[in-house]
Order: sequence, then C-alpha cells, then structure tokens
Amino acid sequence: MAIDAALYSGSKCYFFHGSQYLRVTRGDTGPGTVDSGYPAPISNWGWPGGFGAGGIDAALYSRSKCYFFKGNRYVRVTRGDTGPGTVDPGYPAPISNWGWPGGFGAAGIDAALYSGSKCYFFKGNQYVRVTRGDTGPGTVDPGYPAPISNWGWEREFIRIHFKSLLPVTPALGQFMDTQFTELQKLYATVHIDARRGSTEDLSGDPNLSSLIALDVGRCLLGQPTQEQRDLFSHRNGAGGNDLVVYVVQTLVSTNNSNFVGCATHPDGQPGAAVVQNSARWLTAHEVGHVLGLRHVCEFPSPQNPSPNVACVAGSNQSDRLMFPNVQWTHPPPDIAGAEATTMLASGLTRPLPF
Ligand SMILES: [Zn+2]
Repeated sequence: MAIDAALYSGSKCYFFHGSQYLRVTRGDTGPGTVDSGYPAPISNWGWPGGFGAGGIDAALYSRSKCYFFKGNRYVRVTRGDTGPGTVDPGYPAPISNWGWPGGFGAAGIDAALYSGSKCYFFKGNQYVRVTRGDTGPGTVDPGYPAPISNWGWEREFIRIHFKSLLPVTPALGQFMDTQFTELQKLYATVHIDARRGSTEDLSGDPNLSSLIALDVGRCLLGQPTQEQRDLFSHRNGAGGNDLVVYVVQTLVSTNNSNFVGCATHPDGQPGAAVVQNSARWLTAHEVGHVLGLRHVCEFPSPQNPSPNVACVAGSNQSDRLMFPNVQWTHPPPDIAGAEATTMLASGLTRPLPF
C-alpha cells in the first residue's frame, strides 16, 4: 500500500491513495484511529470540475487554508480541522502561479510539507523552500531548488566480491575482512551501503597463476593491460554492476611505481586489484577510483613532472581518502562532499528505498 499524499489538519490527518482517502483521528504521534465511514471517495470534497477526484499528487496544510495539487494545477480551500470547507474563488489555478525558479514544479509536484514559517515542495530529486504565511506564494529562499539529497536520507548500495589469486589463508581472510569493514564504515558516512558479495579462492586455477604478478602498465584509468583484461574477465557470481576486488601478489608497473592497488579495469567489468597490505583503506581508495574519484593531488613523476594540483607536504591533502599514496594522516581518511556526490552519481551505486 502506497500513499500519494498526506495532510495534517489539527486533530485529524488525511491520507490519499488513488481516488480514495482515509481520515484518522490522532495526537502528535502514533497511528490514531481511522474514523468510521472511511475510506471514502475524494470526490466527496466536491472540488470544481471533478478536480482531483481520480487522485491527487500532494496536499499542503497552511492553517486556515489547505492546498491540493494535481498535475499542473491546484485548489486552495478555506476550512477548519474537518470537512471539505469551501474552495476559494479562482481555483483550480496553475501551479506556475507560485512562481518557483526556473519553472520548478510547474508541471506537477510530488509532495508538499508545511513547517510553520517555511513550506517545502518536492519534485523529482529537487525541492524548494518557501517562506510564507497562511496564504500566497511567499518567497523562495535563496539557494533553491536544491537536491533532496541535502536532507541526508538518500542511500545507495554497492556490492563487492573478493577473488584471490593467493590461497585464502586465515591471514588473507582477515585482510579481506578488514579491507571490507573499513570501506563499509567509511562509505556509510556518505550514505553508501557497502555489501559483501562472494569470496572466491582462484589460487588453484592454473590458467590464472601467471597473473599473480599482475602487469598494470602505468595503471591509467581506461587503459587496462592484456593481463588486467584476462583477470577481470573472471567475474563468476558478480552481477553487472557489482565490483570485484582481485587480490594478487604484486602489481608490476612499467614505470617502476610501487603500486599496492590499481583501479584500472575493462569497460563493463568494474573492479580493482590490490596486494595484501597494511593500509586499512586501500580497497576503499581503489573502489573510490572505480566510483569516479580522482586523486586530490599528485606527486611529480617522470611522466608528469608538474601536476596540476601538486601534493604539498604539511597540507591536509593527506587527510583525504584520495591522497595518492596510502600514508593517510588523521585517519580514518575523509571523503569530501563533492566526492560523495560523484560516487552517488556513479552508475555502480544503486538506489535503496529508505
Ligand atoms: Zn589512487
């Protein structure tokens, strides 16, 4: 059972679903009791021209007035706690009369919320906050529309499988557990729910034994080596958007970099390779790359002697998860707000109902 809209109205609350609604007598909390005679048809409200009789999108309490929204129009009603009241002259009227910025909500809204001096109107993944009295459009506060994700409800999930080219000893099992647990705790702070998938021991596969020292070339995103292509094609048990973390003995680079992780992967086979290492957030860092994050800075190298954003000793760059080596300061490392937005926008994080 889903509801389309809900309305506070003092001693009564109303819940709308399809062409019907319930009236409930209740206090501030709890379910209260459904009044006798409900559910009843919305048409009982008697809105002009059958407005809303088939269902409404949103309802807004506003003390002496109530507003009901359907499609691109709304009605304003003068009423007390109970009963249909009377529709004010001139309604239904277009939602565009509210004058929200950029035509926000003009074609329809999903929900409305009264909150004393503020009202909130929701559409898609955005909302506006309006300062107003009982009547009239009021004024949209600066900075709106804004993303609903600002409310901090949004949660997405990723699923991570581990596949090891080394025998899964108790110590290696502990390594994978720690890597996953630290990733899970850190990602939870940015509303990403990390779920553990399968763990596979590939050490007995003779076709893979040569990949235990994995050639990662220069470890450039989007440029996997043939060995990375060979390894990452092993995805048994992993769904299309699942990530696979491969544990190998060493990562062999063409530029003598001492890589302990590399997030380069073939298109459509998301994942990373890591070596067993004491860096607790190594997998969190590499998965961060897979979810679209870049390093916060770079150290000069023969390939890139003057990086755009150079790592500066003594700065707080090393507090961040995406510091380019694993020498984090003030752990656990930080994920910045813009980074969280990037991660949540990745096609690999999938929305959860809240
Ligand atoms: Zn990195």
